[in-house]
Amino acid sequence: MEEADILVIGSGIGALSVAGQLCKHKRKVTVITKGLKKACNSSLAQGGISVALSKEDDYHYHYEDTMAAGCNLNDPEAVMKLVSTAPGVIKEFIESGMVFDKDEKGELAFGREAAHRLNRVIHAGGDKTGLRVVEQLIRNLTTDVTVKQNEMALDLRVKDGKCCGVITRDDKGEKHIYHANYTILATGGIGQLYPSTSNDVTITGDGLAMAYRAGAKLKNLEFIQFHPTMLTIDGNAYGLVSEACRGAGGILVNEKGERIMEGVHPMKDLAPRDVVARQVYAHTLKGEKIYLDISAVKDFKKKFPTVTSICEEHGVDPDDGKIPVAPGAHFHMGGVEATTEGLTSVEGLYAVGEVACTGVHGANRLASNSLLEGIVFGKLLADYILTHPKKTENFPEEPIKTKLKSLPTKAEIREKMMEFVGIVRHEKKMLDILDWFKQYMPNGEDFTRIDPDSATNEETELYNMVTAGYLIAKAAFSRKESIGAHFIKED
Ligand SMILES: Cc1cc2nc3c(=O)[nH]c(=O)nc-3n(C[C@H](O)[C@H](O)[C@H](O)COP(=O)(O)OP(=O)(O)OC[C@H]3O[C@@H](n4cnc5c(N)ncnc54)[C@H](O)[C@@H]3O)c2cc1C
Repeated sequence: MEEADILVIGSGIGALSVAGQLCKHKRKVTVITKGLKKACNSSLAQGGISVALSKEDDYHYHYEDTMAAGCNLNDPEAVMKLVSTAPGVIKEFIESGMVFDKDEKGELAFGREAAHRLNRVIHAGGDKTGLRVVEQLIRNLTTDVTVKQNEMALDLRVKDGKCCGVITRDDKGEKHIYHANYTILATGGIGQLYPSTSNDVTITGDGLAMAYRAGAKLKNLEFIQFHPTMLTIDGNAYGLVSEACRGAGGILVNEKGERIMEGVHPMKDLAPRDVVARQVYAHTLKGEKIYLDISAVKDFKKKFPTVTSICEEHGVDPDDGKIPVAPGAHFHMGGVEATTEGLTSVEGLYAVGEVACTGVHGANRLASNSLLEGIVFGKLLADYILTHPKKTENFPEEPIKTKLKSLPTKAEIREKMMEFVGIVRHEKKMLDILDWFKQYMPNGEDFTRIDPDSATNEETELYNMVTAGYLIAKAAFSRKESIGAHFIKED
């Protein structure tokens, strides 16, 4: 049994923000992460962080834009908390050493992204924002934070609605049992459940599945944002072509060079992501190739070094002015129901970042609001812990008899998810996929806890993927109307 006062699962912006705030107060934090510490979606983020800090802006505008993008399904109080707390938290982050890009006057440079009424997105190293943010957050950690890499959380330790830690296994196959006063899920989203995704390979819905097995309430799982522009060659996705490229003047065209967003939405290429993703998808389903025409974007390679290197690695030269694109799974608006301080329905279990659903994103996320969510709500969770001392009882581990059934491959899960609960959904197909998933329930009734010794880390990951896939399909089937990222086509 290993002891941890505060145990954080994951090492993205949510996890590092909580840990960084807590270690300032000399609190001991153990961070456990599945891969290397920079392996997370946060490191991959390109566009930036939205925050009402420019002279023309006001957090009330940020509030209105966030609510509009989320189709007003957002929790208004959570949104207000996010946008009003953001300027102070970002200023504090800058004071801690974070350097964001500046304009020619030496002031913060604000970029434009879809559905923002004005330039509001701060960035670092052009499109290297996520990596720069993660690196700074890691620099801010003190020796009070222990980071355990290549260790996968298998299951939460829960009894009678209370969580007292986690069971993990490292890459040498050694199992660890932790007791913690506070157990924080910061495991990110579910992108790897889909065949085409912008997400890191470690993002397989583990947090969602573990929280479900722990009996935590989940919320809005049907809302999955597909990014319209993944660099795509011969049907394979190779990385994200940031929306900021469209903000800077990139336009979506077909093989004949005709604009595909003309007449579809008044904001054309900067329409909300679900609208653009559906339009690109509709064209690709017809067998057409879609390109991002960047010929009008000045200094593209300088402004977008990450996109440039992803393109060049795969034989696409941005100087030719055209990048082949298709949509891919990008962000999960739903997740483990949590307050803005990270409290879940399970005592002792907290959730922050993309794995949490605080209601800020509603039915669709406003671009660049998720790095913000991680850093702002990470601070609020740390503040909560600092002001709420807690000793959590250590329950003895009870043996679990249930063992895994044989599972489908990742490729099979991904293919089913895209066809049955992808960008466009059909009621009948959602019922079909629910039946398909049910055959993998170990006891025939539910995706219950399993004996951790009966499955390898890879098998546990697959089990988490079928669990999360099933839960997403169930939520999608229950929501009968199209709204935001949940789009149902009548048969
Ligand atoms: C390519 C790309 C570009 C993006 N661009 C932007 C942007 O410009 N602006 C913006 O606001 N948002 C952007 N996003 C979204 C944003 O990056 C994420 O929503 C955000 O970083 C999520 O942070 P997080 O801390 O919740 O999770 P992540 O950063 O995804 O971290 C999750 C961590 O949990 C670990 N983990 C998962 N399962 C386990 C397990 N079982 N055991 C142990 N560890 C586990 C993972 O390895 C990882 O370290 C982008 C996302 C992608 C993929």
